[in-house]
Amino acid sequence: MIPAKFDYVRPASVGDAVSALAGGGEDAKVIAGGQSLLPLLRLRLANPDLLVDVGGIDDLKGVTDEGGSLLIGARTTHYQVVHDPLIAEHCGLLARAAGTVADPAVRHRGTLGGSLAHADPAGDLPAVVLALDATMVARGPSGERQIAAADFFVDYLTTALRPDEILTGVRVPKLGGDWGYCYEKFHRTAQAWAIVGVAALARRSNGHVAEARVGLTNMGSVPLRASAVEAAAAGAAATREALAAAAAGAADGTEPPADLHGAPDYRRHLARVLTGRALAAAAGA
Ligand SMILES: Cc1cc2nc3c(=O)[nH]c(=O)nc-3n(C[C@H](O)[C@H](O)[C@H](O)COP(=O)(O)OP(=O)(O)OC[C@H]3O[C@@H](n4cnc5c(N)ncnc54)[C@H](O)[C@@H]3O)c2cc1C
Repeated sequence: MIPAKFDYVRPASVGDAVSALAGGGEDAKVIAGGQSLLPLLRLRLANPDLLVDVGGIDDLKGVTDEGGSLLIGARTTHYQVVHDPLIAEHCGLLARAAGTVADPAVRHRGTLGGSLAHADPAGDLPAVVLALDATMVARGPSGERQIAAADFFVDYLTTALRPDEILTGVRVPKLGGDWGYCYEKFHRTAQAWAIVGVAALARRSNGHVAEARVGLTNMGSVPLRASAVEAAAAGAAATREALAAAAAGAADGTEPPADLHGAPDYRRHLARVLTGRALAAAAGA
């Protein structure tokens, strides 16, 4: 289908983009790589009057080393996330998960910021930034604000971003060398979309897991932290058996969807199995 008519601007700075967005009101929308928005426009599920294309703003691209954290520009593509040496060194979980998004064509155009702002519960990167304790950086007419990942994902396809705000970047705390990580996802062969995904981080100490973090993809309307598993894994032996036992609570408090790809009970089972595997891999078991 052909999208409905809209106006289009391609500003060269974040300030101009924010002004254009604010001027367009509730019916203006940002477009970055277009990998999620273009299908919605073509199906006429989204009908914005104005598209503000951030694809020409170089300030929104790339990775800055801030000392204790990395600031990753919202326009950084999945391909760049996968191949960036700073991300590989300090928050490799993000690179690992970005490498599982879709296919090379989508990864070359789709952006980290677009994936997070779109907030699809089946999207891989929201659960990853949640597990990494990342902070979103947004810019609106009244300036910049920081939003913790735990507060950013509000509901199905809904974030804490205001209609006149642009996501400019994601601040990810660096992980030390004693952290291991893994992203496990179960998906149909022909599509990379997660039926369930698990982002796991484990800090190892003397054959044990000193601290664990687990983010769940597609186990509710927003990405979730598996807090019962995190509590059970802390102090557990870094063995497959002990971590599989800790993963037993992976589906606690979740409300997985029912769709053609699986019933809620099937997803709960997947969450427990994948969490056990991901934690064991993260802990080097
Ligand atoms: C065939 C196919 C397969 C896919 N498979 C997967 C998969 O396996 N896993 C997965 O996670 N995703 C998958 N996706 C989704 C896709 O990779 C991401 O959702 C996409 O990369 C989003 O980034 P974008 O830059 O293209 O965003 P766009 O499509 O341009 O925008 C998406 C949404 O985010 C908003 N937005 C974008 N940038 C900003 C910003 N800087 N500030 C504020 N709002 C912003 C837009 O207004 C829009 O609402 C797939 C997509 C396709 C087409």
